[in-house]
Amino acid sequence: MQLTIYRGTQEVGGTMIELRSSNTRILLDAGYPLFYQGKVIDDSWVKKPFEELRQLGVIPRVEGLYCQDVPGFDGILISHAHSDHFGLLKYIHPGIPVYLSETTDKLMEMNLSFPIPGYSERDRRLIEMYEPFSIGDFTIKPFLTDHSAFAAAAFEINCEGKSIIYTGDFRGHGRRRAYLDRFLKEAGKGADLLLIEGTTLGRTGESECTEEELEERIAQAMEMSGGIVLCQPTSQNIDRVISFYKAAKSCGKIFVMDIYTAKVLDELRRIGWKDLPVPSLLRPDIRVYRPRMLAAKMEKLLGKGSTKGFRAFTVSGRAIGRKQEQVAMLIRPSALSDLKLMGLRNGLLIYSQWQEYRDKPYQVRLESYLKSRGFSDCYLHTSGHAFEGDIQKVIKELSPKEIVPIHTFCPEAFLKFNANVTLRRDGVPFRL
Ligand SMILES: [Zn+2]
Ligand SMILES: [Zn+2]
Repeated sequence: MQLTIYRGTQEVGGTMIELRSSNTRILLDAGYPLFYQGKVIDDSWVKKPFEELRQLGVIPRVEGLYCQDVPGFDGILISHAHSDHFGLLKYIHPGIPVYLSETTDKLMEMNLSFPIPGYSERDRRLIEMYEPFSIGDFTIKPFLTDHSAFAAAAFEINCEGKSIIYTGDFRGHGRRRAYLDRFLKEAGKGADLLLIEGTTLGRTGESECTEEELEERIAQAMEMSGGIVLCQPTSQNIDRVISFYKAAKSCGKIFVMDIYTAKVLDELRRIGWKDLPVPSLLRPDIRVYRPRMLAAKMEKLLGKGSTKGFRAFTVSGRAIGRKQEQVAMLIRPSALSDLKLMGLRNGLLIYSQWQEYRDKPYQVRLESYLKSRGFSDCYLHTSGHAFEGDIQKVIKELSPKEIVPIHTFCPEAFLKFNANVTLRRDGVPFRL
């Protein structure tokens, strides 16, 4: 079997790995990069034409993959609904089937920040966690893992007598660390190859707290604030939304979420996820508001009528303004004009996502407005990716014959974990 890691041997994001047997070619993830020459790619890059992105190396050169090629792949596996794992799908030939779980499919379909044109018409084959399936010569078993993308998958892949384990993005300090435990228990030991992520390696000054400890810190911050608490996780980080909701509940605050978050949670509930904080009659502590720009974007990208529902639980900006001291509310920069109408003052902003995004102009505008209204702010976050201890644990428990680090700026850090580590280079095929 031949493997080519098109991107990720020396960087975080944009994961794309080809596995090729004598008769079958599959792609593991089709990620849009997060960085270009060490700098975070800003939103304007998405509008650049295909050829320019190919020249720049943002789109790797791969035969038989893109829309203008004759399709040469048998399938594309998507591990989870983060654009650095699915974002290149928009350039990929629609004749190549995409394999993913129903949850990942739903989250991708509903993604507002990285929409894939024509996504709902694509040939998608839904896979079940823990149920092996085949693509040509390959047999693949997906496992749930714990990550900041909901229901992320790791894969165990067998082909021509060789076995590969791909962790995808994972962590061991989230709400769903039991998924990682089950994966470590059930995945084959002594695989020929482990492809493992190392996002947090080499990062300094990050606090290594669990999601539950973070929830506690959020609750303390909410408790101490005398005003409204504005909460800013990324919109699809479901487990973080749960942390904010539980913290608000413990402080006796009403949790106000935007219509998009309410819709995502409700869709997840419909496909079988229980215990999510979906607005309902049973939860009088949750209310919904409709920022105008967000609602317009939903109507445009998710279809007419996508903002319907939750009428009974909807609150107006004015009502939020009147009761602001009792409220903890999810916000996003595009809701700034709505916030201005609420007359908010002297509250607290809790920023809870990757710090790199905090310098974006719309975020700076939001924060400077809040400052002018007497708000204070704090940064309360924990990584969606494994810390060193959990990376070492995965390597130890799976005891693979060879380890190749991916999704990391610090692949050499793995060398001290285990003697079986091989450092690979982007775009250079190797055999297994
Ligand atoms: Zn990633
Ligand atoms: Zn991810």
